[in-house]
Amino acid sequence: MEKPRELNSKNEKFGEWYLQILEKAELMDDRYNVKGFYIVRPWLMNIIDKVYKIWEDELNKKGHKKVSFPTVIPIENFEKEKEHVEGFSPEVFWITEGGDTKFERKIALRPTSETAFYSIYPLWIRSHEDLPLKLYQSCSVFRYETKATKPLLRAREFIWIEAHNAYSNKEEALNQIKEDMNITTKVSEKLGIPFLFFKRPEWDKFTGAVFSFASDTILPDKKRLQYSTSHYLGQNFSKPFDIKFSDEDEKEKFVYQTCYGPGISRMIASIISLHSDDFGLILPFYLAPVQIVIVPILKKGREKEILEYCEKIKEKLKGYEVKIDNRDKGVGSKFYDWELKGVPVRFDIGGNETDKKEVCLFRRDKREKSFIKLEEITENIKIIEKEIEENLKKTASKNFETAMSETETTEELKEKVKEGFVKIPFCSRATDGENCAEKIKDICEIAGTLYPEENPPENKKCIVCGKEAKVWVYACRSY
Ligand SMILES: [Zn+2]
Repeated sequence: MEKPRELNSKNEKFGEWYLQILEKAELMDDRYNVKGFYIVRPWLMNIIDKVYKIWEDELNKKGHKKVSFPTVIPIENFEKEKEHVEGFSPEVFWITEGGDTKFERKIALRPTSETAFYSIYPLWIRSHEDLPLKLYQSCSVFRYETKATKPLLRAREFIWIEAHNAYSNKEEALNQIKEDMNITTKVSEKLGIPFLFFKRPEWDKFTGAVFSFASDTILPDKKRLQYSTSHYLGQNFSKPFDIKFSDEDEKEKFVYQTCYGPGISRMIASIISLHSDDFGLILPFYLAPVQIVIVPILKKGREKEILEYCEKIKEKLKGYEVKIDNRDKGVGSKFYDWELKGVPVRFDIGGNETDKKEVCLFRRDKREKSFIKLEEITENIKIIEKEIEENLKKTASKNFETAMSETETTEELKEKVKEGFVKIPFCSRATDGENCAEKIKDICEIAGTLYPEENPPENKKCIVCGKEAKVWVYACRSY
């Protein structure tokens, strides 16, 4: 009865599988005629809104306030922080004219908004009583990617949250990094995304930051995906932007700053990639646009009776998103469609079920059928809802664990890095390390050191240069 599968194997041909699921489950459309820009379709938009809400709720709970800043940033804002403008210039989209008028100074489409927020912060921050200032916006940003683009993973426009914070002292600012990590952990655990939180090496930090931190997961092709970053900016921006406050001692001081960027696009790419199979998407109840679909299997002469029974089932499930699929279409194609879209539970209702006052329940995550009495349906759904959520988390963390290994030789590293993160002894996360990272860059990248920090290696040698190893770092292949 089922149509043959149209998706490639997720684990064997992840790249093809990924594009197929976006298209066939009607999640995105990549046919828009500007390279690197993609369209989100209603099914995925519904999921994105829910993921946004989960992140925003956590930020709001911690006292962050939501704002909206302009999409455009004048070049003079960028020029205030030298490293920042150098780092971002190659990937900025510039607006150079409006109508017939050529602008004297070009205007950027925001690639990130430090220089937008921080141009206004001096007007809003006057005294210690205005601090801490914790503002964020949910928006899209634009980057002129020159590498091959891919929907959600590497696009020229992507969606995220960006939080920009200011504090009266260093300690509070550094505590914000820990809070960011806690928020990331809470949201990632909820969504079933296993990750490691890294302090990035010196050579791979955000341009303008003192330190950068990031959370990375591993996709089914065993490559690392960074989906959230936190940066400790120190006073690198507050000095050029003149963000000062008068402290309790009445002296004028520059604020300390952090910024935090949970990448919604990449989080969505992770959800799709980690919680799905060769039949399509698998969604937990709390993300699914339709949570239960009822497919009537009509028998000649009993159509009305079966449909009425379907309605009765729907009545019992108030509070859930339930859809009765009475499209004029074969039952097999209906099964196929809902499996592709990841609806967590399906009821197949024919004459037998109507007679026996039961439902034939199909669980999308396990692809298993069972029969449940109509009167027991609400309690059962509650249990299944929890089980699916737990099952998705368990599967994802099991896969993540198999993607972790350790070695002390470059020969082994070469092989092991094809399977995910490899923990290696390394000389340094600054200059020496950069030279060593450069020597193995054809094999892997260095994600950084774990945060909070691990105990340093004892009597180990750097895997590349052979000097005394001072840190454990994690090597991987990356997006
Ligand atoms: Zn070394």
